[in-house]
Amino acid sequence: MIRFQLRCGNRHEFEAWFPSNAGFEDQKARGLLSCAVCGDTSVDKAPMAPRIVRSTGSAPVTIDNTTGSVEKTRAPTAPAAPAAPSPEALRRGIEALHRVIEARFENVGRDFATEARAIHDGVKDPREIYGQATLDEVKDLAEDGIPVLPIPSMPPSDA
Ligand SMILES: [Zn+2]
Repeated sequence: MIRFQLRCGNRHEFEAWFPSNAGFEDQKARGLLSCAVCGDTSVDKAPMAPRIVRSTGSAPVTIDNTTGSVEKTRAPTAPAAPAAPSPEALRRGIEALHRVIEARFENVGRDFATEARAIHDGVKDPREIYGQATLDEVKDLAEDGIPVLPIPSMPPSDA
């Protein structure tokens, strides 16, 4: 389904859904389209205003071409993006992540890169490990196809 903004000969604008652009053209050609307000059958697509959707999760903003004014509208077809997590929620998430890793993975500390490579090469038994690595070590591991997941370190507490 595709939604078009339509306008009649008397400049009434309204929205209508069609199965496709071809479906719209077909209904228009057969004179099946009529204005929802005045019944005028000289209906065509209205020029669309550019729509800018902000990434902050607030309502989309449309810019009215004719006046240049900006108004907030709630577009029914575009659900708002979820709000960014609060620092506290983020902190709790990272804490939980650390707890899971510390409970299930073996801590190899600074030897992480060496151990990861040894496991990858079959020199050591395969197991899940965590530890510290330098940026260069992580890059080298990635280049050799050894999967590494960077874990965010704990943000400082405000409390
Ligand atoms: Zn009309």
